[in-house]
Amino acid sequence: MLRTHTCGELRITDVNKTVVLTGWVQRLRDKGSLMWIDLRDRYGITQLFLEEGKTDAALLKAARALGREFVVKVEGTVAERVSKNANIATGDIELKVTNIDVLNAAKLPPFTIEDETDGGDDLRMKYRYLDLRRNPVRESLLLRHKVAQQTRSYLDSQNFIEVETPVLIKSTPEGARDFVVPSRMNPGEFYALPQSPQTFKQLLMVSGFDRYYQIVKCFRDEDLRADRQPEFTQIDCEMSFVTQEDILTTFEGLIRHLFKTVKGIELKEVPHMTYADAMKYYGSDKPDTRFEMKFAELNDVAQGKGFGVFDSAELVVGICAKGCASYTRKQLDELTDFVKKPQIGAKGLVYVRCETNGTFKSSVDKFFDEIELSRFAQKFNAEPGDLLLILAGEKDKTRKALSELRLHVASQVGLRDKNKFAALWVIDFPLLEWNEETNRWHAMHHPFTSPKPEDMPKLQSHPGEVRANAYDMVLNGIEIGGGSIRIHDRNTQQLMFKKLGFTEEEAQKQFGFLMDAFEFGAPPHGGIAFGFDRLCSLFGGAESIRDFIAFPKNNAGRDTMIDTPSTISQEQLNELGIAVKGTIK
Ligand code: ASP
Repeated sequence: MLRTHTCGELRITDVNKTVVLTGWVQRLRDKGSLMWIDLRDRYGITQLFLEEGKTDAALLKAARALGREFVVKVEGTVAERVSKNANIATGDIELKVTNIDVLNAAKLPPFTIEDETDGGDDLRMKYRYLDLRRNPVRESLLLRHKVAQQTRSYLDSQNFIEVETPVLIKSTPEGARDFVVPSRMNPGEFYALPQSPQTFKQLLMVSGFDRYYQIVKCFRDEDLRADRQPEFTQIDCEMSFVTQEDILTTFEGLIRHLFKTVKGIELKEVPHMTYADAMKYYGSDKPDTRFEMKFAELNDVAQGKGFGVFDSAELVVGICAKGCASYTRKQLDELTDFVKKPQIGAKGLVYVRCETNGTFKSSVDKFFDEIELSRFAQKFNAEPGDLLLILAGEKDKTRKALSELRLHVASQVGLRDKNKFAALWVIDFPLLEWNEETNRWHAMHHPFTSPKPEDMPKLQSHPGEVRANAYDMVLNGIEIGGGSIRIHDRNTQQLMFKKLGFTEEEAQKQFGFLMDAFEFGAPPHGGIAFGFDRLCSLFGGAESIRDFIAFPKNNAGRDTMIDTPSTISQEQLNELGIAVKGTIK
């Protein structure tokens, strides 16, 4: 090694030692006769010290010629600092420099490489390798490493085997568009990049692997948002001879293990909630359960009193904001504007203030007297000082809008603390959902999910009411994982494809390999996949997953550092037998 120590290692106990450090020049402070340099590497920062009169003149000159981000090798003696810095681990010492070797000079970086940088997103992405030198980004990647290590350690301890599945596969319909890769050797034919290794992990169960996992790249050609990337990573798992309960227990174990080892937090037991309850009480299949604020349905106390908006509504439903009766007119108007935004879509908002003196004041006083309003309050177990916020309209839309309002109010009153964690299993998802655009049933999870046996008879008569053995894990209102017990016999799988609008030929062409496999002794099996990037960002307390990915894509799906996607040469196109509009006649 060129160095004897790292820049994060030296302590007061090392005083008087002669050491060699290597790293990058983070900052130079030249006070004339005294000069300090912050030397940085992955492990920390060590202060270097030079003094006119004491330091050799040529050396001082060499130090003055250094610039930010120069790579250097420095020899010196460890000394106790006069003014100590309690904020860094090496803050008690500094290095009295006796020699500096410049290993490589550096151009002035396009942004400052410090915790708070002056670089905007675009610049940081173009020079991501410099951005990665910054502490917060490096720490995010170290956290990612730790989550991966602990995932492997837990799953290994539970007898899971890591198996790699191919990246060049064929399209599996899981709701998103595929990225495709042309095959040179098979002109006119394409591979698809996996949206997930779903069918392969099921085949591994047929092969008898019993417990599989993989920390694996998946690809989905979707429109991008802050928390989405075209390529992302899953912790993908599958088990044989298990019930849904076994899977939930095993992976609750994984999450608790990760919380404990990565965050030092003992996560409470993860409660189970049915999809139906999640929709009824939270208006969402991924409720944030860090706080209560459950929905109360008010049809029986709100309808029939002459208020048209309530009377004509399929559902009258509200939430109780604890201690918010003191909200001002302006605050209430802001909430009304919020629910009326097109993306929320409510027509208006009714409020009832439960005054501290026990009376009620509402926006519908014309239609409801004190006694009637007190019945509203009872539905929420509201107390004096609380504020009821009520929406009315078509059931699904109203629940959705109220769910948004619930989160909005909770953020306002500080109930969404990112250092608090509440996990939840949402179970019993519907098997199918009707898609207005395609005018047919779609699998809510994916086509390999098994219906609950007791709901099978409804598959013909009421397909929308059939529940699946499917589950999601939700953390702080974010879906972090989802899976299901699978179909493992040909007939049911065939029936499922039929329900989804596949002809027998289409089903055979796309998934014949899986259905064939089911005929050679497929064990009952099920599994789950966790969104690894998102899990890491939640552990890191960040909104975006981007800083937990070493080289992410931007919102347009581009990597601006290597400048891709990019065109390819005519020669390559010819070789692939691909004609690009305008280039080949
Ligand atoms: N393959 C599924 C997904 O990517 C997860 C699973 O069912 O195990 O969402």
